[in-house]
Amino acid sequence: MQKIVEFIQDTFKRKDFVPLHEPRFIGNEKKYLNDCIDSTFVSSVGKYVDQFEKEFALKVGSRYAIATVNGTSALHISLILADVQRDDEVITQPLTFIATCNAISYIGAKPIFVDVDLDTMGLSPDSLQSFLEINCEVKENICINKKTGKTIKACVPMHTFGHPCRMEEIKEICDKWSISLVEDAAESLGSYYKGKHTGTFGKVGAFSFNGNKIITSGGGGALVTDDERLAKKAKHLTTTAKIPHPFEYIHDEVAFNYRMPNLNAALLVAQLEQLDSFLKSKRGLAQKYKEFFSNEDIKFIEEPCNPAGTRTKDSKSNYWLQAILLKDKKQRDEFLEFTNKSGVMTRPIWGLMNELEMFKDCQKDDLKNATYLEARIVNIPSSVIL
Ligand SMILES: *Cc1c(COP(=O)(O)O)cnc(C)c1O
Repeated sequence: MQKIVEFIQDTFKRKDFVPLHEPRFIGNEKKYLNDCIDSTFVSSVGKYVDQFEKEFALKVGSRYAIATVNGTSALHISLILADVQRDDEVITQPLTFIATCNAISYIGAKPIFVDVDLDTMGLSPDSLQSFLEINCEVKENICINKKTGKTIKACVPMHTFGHPCRMEEIKEICDKWSISLVEDAAESLGSYYKGKHTGTFGKVGAFSFNGNKIITSGGGGALVTDDERLAKKAKHLTTTAKIPHPFEYIHDEVAFNYRMPNLNAALLVAQLEQLDSFLKSKRGLAQKYKEFFSNEDIKFIEEPCNPAGTRTKDSKSNYWLQAILLKDKKQRDEFLEFTNKSGVMTRPIWGLMNELEMFKDCQKDDLKNATYLEARIVNIPSSVIL
């Protein structure tokens, strides 16, 4: 383990402390921020929000993008756009960041947990299909859960650490079962499945620009869609449902103050300009880790790569957070202990959502892959190397 610590310290050229992921502001950040401050438009009006939305949509190949205050709010609105309502059910994976399930819960809907694939670490189309076949029926274009009698409105796959889920199959199953597809692409800006950007397969996709994501606006998010009606609705709902008027306050429904401030968007425009170089650096780092770990009994997680050795080449990952697979929980715990004590920051993958107090009564399928991964996956330092 000392060898691993030294390799990581050498790679990042740091002896004292190697963080898991730190942002890089090496482009036009200060210039645009200054411009923003000088203009006095630091808040909910300003050119950088519009500019960012245009450039972001172009980057991911979507017709519309709407910037929000964070990724969780982008997910919340995405689920509303998919017509998820109180008491509906939403299928997602147990291995995800809490925000996915929080957003579902804000609406008063309930998550259902279906297993992940070992190689993608994201929602498994095979598990999804078998869950639906056993538990559900479609009546008049509505997917009914026979166990609960409730409607399954949406399915939210999440691209874990930037590794794309098998989106074509997931989309086909969702279409067949009349379920809206909403992607949690918070971690996967710059990741593609069969040449198509993650987040653009379903009705809506949500991204995050939190401080630890591949590009950051401090805090921020965005949702993308090709549907003009949904894009307009998203803008409306994220801006207090205010009817445009030169001076009057008229709001036509209860909505949210989820708009990204111009100050954050200024930072983000500069970050987006650097995305391609960040992606290149992360891919280079992945290659280095892969070579290093090929001599260890620890496995480096490659873009869809699984312990059984099967692999598809359909995925291009952004390698946002680099990850390794340890032998078992004991080795994982020793690794976490040793590296963190040595000043190399490492972190286990999230605990399973279905084990949290709030979600422990939610319906779940057999979760053997998620359980296997939860005990073994660790993230290792992943910052863009200067
Ligand atoms: C980061 C993240 C989000 C959203 O996070 P915010 O902090 O609200 O921007 C949502 N889902 C996943 C999987 C994430 O990693």
